[in-house]
Amino acid sequence: MCGIVGFIEKQREDISDVLVNSLLILQHRGQDAAGVITYDRSFHLKKGQGLVQQIFQKKHIQRLKGFMGIGHVRYPTIGPGTGEDAQPFYTNHPYGIGIVHNGNVMNFFSLKRKLWNERKWQVNSLNDVEVILNVFAMALEDFETGKETDFVSNIFKAVETVYSLVRGAYSVILLIGDRGLLAFKDPHGIRPLSMGIKQGGIGFASESVVFDYSLHKLKRELLPGEAVFVDKDLKVFSRNILKNTYRPCIFEWVYFSRPDSIINGIGVLEARKRLGRALGKKIKQMGIHPDVVIGIPDTGRPAAIEVANELKIPVSEGLIRNRYITRTFIMPRNTKRHSSVRQKLNPVMSEIKDKNVLLVDDSIVRGTTSSEIVKMVRSIGAKKVYYASYSPPVISPCYYGIDMTTNEDFIARDKNLDEVRKIIGADLIIYGELKDLASILPFKEPCMACFNNNYPIKPQKDDIEDIEKDRLQWNLL
Ligand code: AMP
Repeated sequence: MCGIVGFIEKQREDISDVLVNSLLILQHRGQDAAGVITYDRSFHLKKGQGLVQQIFQKKHIQRLKGFMGIGHVRYPTIGPGTGEDAQPFYTNHPYGIGIVHNGNVMNFFSLKRKLWNERKWQVNSLNDVEVILNVFAMALEDFETGKETDFVSNIFKAVETVYSLVRGAYSVILLIGDRGLLAFKDPHGIRPLSMGIKQGGIGFASESVVFDYSLHKLKRELLPGEAVFVDKDLKVFSRNILKNTYRPCIFEWVYFSRPDSIINGIGVLEARKRLGRALGKKIKQMGIHPDVVIGIPDTGRPAAIEVANELKIPVSEGLIRNRYITRTFIMPRNTKRHSSVRQKLNPVMSEIKDKNVLLVDDSIVRGTTSSEIVKMVRSIGAKKVYYASYSPPVISPCYYGIDMTTNEDFIARDKNLDEVRKIIGADLIIYGELKDLASILPFKEPCMACFNNNYPIKPQKDDIEDIEKDRLQWNLL
């Protein structure tokens, strides 16, 4: 998963300041690498591995001059996640184009081979954004040298070419030298991307919370298959190029986005509270009577409050999170994940000892977090430990940009509830219901593939093999 931003402001030469601060706001979406590219009369680029604050010093922000620019925070869903693969990517022809994206190109490896075989076009990195960039740049160049001279219609045609070749989930922002910003979403609109407007400026961001800081008014979410181009004079052109059923990823509301974001008009915090209420009702019907509810920080907390309200029992901050440890799941290597759960969370004995404890989390994926937490809570004297996830069991790989792409990733995939319970070590495991999850969004078919195995874009056998090979190779390091 990644976070992207793009800003254009007419009267400004220091857009990098707002870009870097926005990346800090989106840091939860990726902690592996970050980068910014700006444009005044030429391009200025800074990217590297690490957290935003480690990468950008004052001197970089001063060097990154320009009235428009784009930025990215990354955690890798393809490739090893080295500095070479950090975004933005850039090509100097035509015009000079910088690009950032959030998502995952399912046919990255086959497109990479195709570009080489058919055009001798070298895709150098192991970052899937590079194929989007190459396909777009090649198509734009072809259209620009053809009979059609209208630049805007040429860029929309180039996006159409991207749609025809690139399979997967991708929200993209491009910085086109001397021209403006182009943003588009894949034809199913799986990953989020919204647009904000203020006097003298326009912005794009993965999450609306960026606009709370940058003082843009949240205008709207881009539509599936829609491209929006903003020229240097802030004139906005938008086109619905290829519209399929809207299938936004439900995991954004379950876990990924910040609670203070609004995506597609649905507040993330409100969605989590609703899931908590539904979970509370289910637990009540099951006739379970814990003494205390504890939310797993941070995502599980709003739901835990709602569960406690439903059960009419106290909610407690019985697990304390070290705010200086970053998200554990995002750690690309498995060994790091295990040890960092313990570094990140610590139980408070007075809230737990001699009590029947109900722990509430957003999800159980591999079972790493839950089994570590159950051990910790038992070690300080909990009587019974019930572990609840407000989302249903995660059972299927995500090919659209969340780092759970191999079947081995899922504890619940081929086990029944009791087997899962035994591995995690809890007295009881409770999952939220699929129907309650689906009810948080007003869309007919949001993407819930990781929960129900129903994929908006069917993964092809070759693509799955390529993806699994890639992920296993880097995860085993
Ligand atoms: P696991 O420990 O593998 O079972 O993963 C579940 C924990 O990681 C939960 O506490 C979630 O808050 C968090 N989590 C779940 N899914 C993701 C994801 N796709 N990316 C990052 N963190 C996640």
